[in-house]
Amino acid sequence: MCGIVAYIGHREAYPVILKGLKRLEYRGYDSAGIALIQYPPHNPSDQPVITVYKRKGKVAELEEYLAAKDLHSHVGIGHTRWATHGEPSDRNAHPHLSGNGRLAIVHNGIIENYASIKQELLNKDHVFHSDTDTEVLIHFIEDIQQNNQCSLEEAVRIALRRVVGAYVIVILDADHPDTLIAARKGTPLVIGVGKGEHFLASDPSPIIEYTQEVVFVNDYEVAIVKADELVLKNLGNERQTPFIQKLDLELAAIEKGGFDHFMLKEIFEQPDTIFDSLRGRLDEQQGRIIMRGVEEYMQKFIDAQRIIMVACGTSWHAALTAEYMFEELCRIPVEVEYASEFRYRNPVIHPGDIVMAISQSGETADTLVAIEEAKRAGAIIFGICNVVGSSIARVSHAGAYTHAGPEIGVASTKAFTAQLAVLCMIALKVGRQKGTLSNDRFIHLLHELALVPDKVKEILQQHDQIKHIAAKYATARDFLYLGRGYNFPVALEGALKLKEISYIHAEGYPAAEMKHGPIALVDEHLPVLFVATRDRFHEKIISNIQEIKARKGQVIAVIHEGDEVVPQLANEVMVVPQADEIVAPILNVIPLQLLAYYIGVAKGYDVDKPRNLAKSVTVE
Ligand code: GLU
Repeated sequence: MCGIVAYIGHREAYPVILKGLKRLEYRGYDSAGIALIQYPPHNPSDQPVITVYKRKGKVAELEEYLAAKDLHSHVGIGHTRWATHGEPSDRNAHPHLSGNGRLAIVHNGIIENYASIKQELLNKDHVFHSDTDTEVLIHFIEDIQQNNQCSLEEAVRIALRRVVGAYVIVILDADHPDTLIAARKGTPLVIGVGKGEHFLASDPSPIIEYTQEVVFVNDYEVAIVKADELVLKNLGNERQTPFIQKLDLELAAIEKGGFDHFMLKEIFEQPDTIFDSLRGRLDEQQGRIIMRGVEEYMQKFIDAQRIIMVACGTSWHAALTAEYMFEELCRIPVEVEYASEFRYRNPVIHPGDIVMAISQSGETADTLVAIEEAKRAGAIIFGICNVVGSSIARVSHAGAYTHAGPEIGVASTKAFTAQLAVLCMIALKVGRQKGTLSNDRFIHLLHELALVPDKVKEILQQHDQIKHIAAKYATARDFLYLGRGYNFPVALEGALKLKEISYIHAEGYPAAEMKHGPIALVDEHLPVLFVATRDRFHEKIISNIQEIKARKGQVIAVIHEGDEVVPQLANEVMVVPQADEIVAPILNVIPLQLLAYYIGVAKGYDVDKPRNLAKSVTVE
C-alpha cells in the first residue's frame, strides 16, 4: 500500500510533501520519511547531497522530529509506509538510499523476486541496511547504472524489465538534482502539472490544492519529471504522450470539516453520497433508470448464464447483498468470490459470463489481477469503483462509478452504501428489461430507493442513543452479529466494522446457522447483535432471538419502527424506518457503523487509522 508524494519546482518541497503525506496516511502509517536534495553550507565540493529523515510511526511523529531541522529544498520525495517486507521500524522506513548515497527511492508495492536479486548483489559486496525489497531495488538500479555506464533513466528501464511484482517508484538523484524519475506497474501514480512545478502522488489528494491538471501514469511507463517538463516513456524507451486530465475535486471533500474523525464525517455524509449515487440515474417521474454502462451491455446481461462478483473486504459484503438482488430480480445465477481465492483457483469462466468487480479504490490488487484473468478467458468485465480513473475502471469493458466522493477513513462506510445503491439500480434495470421484474414492483422499488437518503438522515439523528449503547458494551471481548436473507451480509459488515476499529473479536453469521456452532459461545457476557428488521424472515429471527435469550446472551437488535415484539426481548434496540427488504441493507448498516465507531472511540483508539490496516490494499 503506502503513500508516495514528491515535488519538484519553485516552492519549498518539505511543506508540500508533509501535507501530502498526511492526506495519504490512510494508505499506511507504519513509518514515514522524506528525502530532499540539499546544498549544505560549507560543503567544499558545492555538490548537492541527499538528506533523508525517517521515523517509525505516523506522519505527525516525523513532523515533530523534523521541527528544528533545516529542510530547505525545492526537490524531494516522501513516503508513508504499510510494511510488507521487514517490520515497521526506523531502518525499514522509506526513503532508501543506494550504496553510494547518491540515489534515494520511495516505493509502493512488492518486488516479488527481490530475494534472488539481493543474492546477486550480496555476491558483489553490496551492503544493505534494511530488510525491505525496496532497498534491493535501488541497489540494483545503481549496480546497473555503474556496470553499463548509462543514465539513471536507462538503468531504471533495465531494472524494471527484470522486476516481477508491482510498484510505483520515485527516485531522487543527487547528480541530477533537477530531475525526478518515476515509474509504475500495478499501483497508482498521479502527476499534477503546475506552472514550473510538478507534484507526484499515489492519489490526487496531495495535489488538488495546487493544480487540477493531472496525468495518470500507465503501467510500464517511466516518467522523467523536471520542474517545467514532463516526459513519459515506455520500458522500450519510446516516448508516450501524456494525457492531461482536468479533475473536479474540491479541497473540502478531503478534509474533516469539524468532525472528530473522517469515519464519522463519512458516516454522516451518507444522505448526500447516496443521493449522489442515485442522481441523474434514478428517474422516478419517468419510471426509469439511466445508466449508460449497463445500457451498452444490456443484451449481455440478459443473455448471461451467470454473473461472478469479485471483491474483497467490505466490497465483498456489497457483492453478497447484490447476489440476493440479482438472483431475485433478474433470475441470473450469481457467484460471489473473494478476488484472492478466485484468481488462484483456476476458475471455470465461460465466454459471456459477466464478472462484476467491486472496489472502492479501484486499485485493489487482488481484484485487479482476478479481472485481468477473467478478461483473458472471455468474460465481460463490469467495474464498480468509487475512484474515477482508477485501474479497475480503466481495464473494465463497462462500469458504473459509485460517486461517494473521496473516502479517507480506513473503515469503509459511505463507499459501501453507495455500492449497494448502484448495485440495486443495476439489478432493477436489468430485471425490468429482462422481464423478470414486474413493472409495478419496479416502480415501487424505484420509489423505495429514492426515499433512502432521507431515511438515512433519520437514523443518523439517533447517534446519541447509539453512543450510549456503545459505552455499555465497549468492554465486551466478543460479539456475534446475526441476520437472515438480505440482512445476513449486513451482519457480516457490522462485525467487520467492529473488528476493524475496536479490535473486539466479532463474527457475522446467518442467524439460522448459529445453531450449528456459534451458539456454544453464548453466555451472559456475549452481546449478540440481530439485524431484525421486518421482512419475510421476521418470525424466524424472533425465534433465533429467543434462543439467545434462553442462554442469557445480551441482545442488541436493529428493528423497524413500530415493531412491538423484539423490544420486549432485546436488551437494546436501534430503530430504523420501514423499507422494502431489497433496499433495507442500505439503512440497516448505518446503526452498525455508528455502533462500531463509538465503541472504537470509547476504547480510545484512532478509528481513522486502525492498527495493521490500510485503506486500499494494492499488494496481493
Ligand atoms: N515493499 C515495500 C515495503 O515493505 C513497500 C510496501 C507497500 O507498498 O505496501 O517497505
